[in-house]
Amino acid sequence: MLINDKEFGEVIVRKSPLSRNIKFSVSTSGRLQMSVPKFTSEFLAKRFLNANRKMIREKLPVKDPNSQRSRDYQKKLLMKKAKEYLPYRLEYYAKLYGYKYDKCRLTHANTRWGSCSSNRTISLNIGLMKVPEPLRDYVILHELAHLNHMDHSKAFWAEVGSHDKNYKLHEKRIKMFNPGV
Ligand SMILES: [Zn+2]
Repeated sequence: MLINDKEFGEVIVRKSPLSRNIKFSVSTSGRLQMSVPKFTSEFLAKRFLNANRKMIREKLPVKDPNSQRSRDYQKKLLMKKAKEYLPYRLEYYAKLYGYKYDKCRLTHANTRWGSCSSNRTISLNIGLMKVPEPLRDYVILHELAHLNHMDHSKAFWAEVGSHDKNYKLHEKRIKMFNPGV
């Protein structure tokens, strides 16, 4: 039996011929689990759940059943923010320093902040909306410099440095953030 509970989400109710009273535990998937005597009705199980909310909250921290949903929602919000900002910021710096790129793509890869492909597409991670502005700008300038240098050569870094004096610090700092959403 499954109970859909407002606070705990889906609660798994297992009827056990051996159990004489109701026991609570947390399943490996993070859902609340109740083991109840064989003839317990749904009504009774719900009533017991209601009576023990406080104890469950304190003793069995149940993972938020909505966390996946809330992560998806966060991602959507971040994508919206990113769409309204990153392409314009990229365009701004490209114009300022005379770079020509073909396309701006927004990504949500877990491992990288940005990339620049040989067909001059610049990809920027929407997670950039979560880092301080100087770091965000640094990533944009880094990818723009790749339009002229497809490597991390001395010439590449000199070009990045000509637009961002603190690029070394920014390169170090951005590593302290996680690009994953
Ligand atoms: Zn690079």
